[in-house]
Amino acid sequence: MSDRTADYGVPDEASRGKGEPQRGPAGPVPVKPPTLAVRAKLLSDQLGEFLALLRPAGQWNLQAALEYRGFTGLESFTESDYGAQVSKLQKQYEASQRWTETRLAEDPRSSDTLDKFAEILNEWRIPAFLAQRRETQRSVAEKARREAQSNQDKQRNQGLQKAAEDRLQHARRILDRARQKNPGKNTFTVAGDGDRFFPAVNGSPGKEHPDVTGLRSHLGSLEPWLTSNCAEPAAVSLARHANVALSDMLVLTVDADGNYKPPCEHCQGWLEKRADDFYRIKPNTRTSQW
Ligand SMILES: [Zn+2]
Repeated sequence: MSDRTADYGVPDEASRGKGEPQRGPAGPVPVKPPTLAVRAKLLSDQLGEFLALLRPAGQWNLQAALEYRGFTGLESFTESDYGAQVSKLQKQYEASQRWTETRLAEDPRSSDTLDKFAEILNEWRIPAFLAQRRETQRSVAEKARREAQSNQDKQRNQGLQKAAEDRLQHARRILDRARQKNPGKNTFTVAGDGDRFFPAVNGSPGKEHPDVTGLRSHLGSLEPWLTSNCAEPAAVSLARHANVALSDMLVLTVDADGNYKPPCEHCQGWLEKRADDFYRIKPNTRTSQW
């Protein structure tokens, strides 16, 4: 394991200010305390945030931080190694703060102090680390949100599909019974709201509900037979008498063999096909009110 932390160096007494070429312009250095203060605050905020990430000793945080600092051999780290690295980082941070404060107290004009501090931070790549970590957190949260939404959609779609299949099976069972009970008939219709279905056969109009009379009679007759004899108006009338709303009405028709049978030309004037094989009452017909 290499440890580059020693390199950045809080300068010791021997090296501080001795034998190094003077930086900056010769002569009096301009006084810029406000700028310096803002910069120092910014830098120490970033370092503070970085250390706050380490403090809960979340292994990922520390590992990422150590990787940024060029440590190797992380896979062989023990818990106490991590702890030792955290306290080392903190000590270095505190030392750099003390050094900075001391230098500022000695010479408030010394921008070298803050340059050094900035160097330390840059070497640690802390601002880049924090920015990347925030971006990672943001994208992880966004991904989790999208996955949750997509699971929710999937479940809802599965639920809707199951309910549609159940309704269709329910309607078909009732149609099967109606076919068994009515040999010789050629059209069988159920109408209802999905929970309740009412079966009817062609040629047995029964007591037509006024809503149904309104739906079909204004269309005139498009077929050679009396349209009141169709199975569809008979079934829809039964369902209306049982208070199924026109807007909730599901209609399904089969022939004598149980094969799906579209409504006649006339009935298609007031019925339209849905995606799930059922027909519904056309909205905006003369007597429908939704
Ligand atoms: Zn018809």
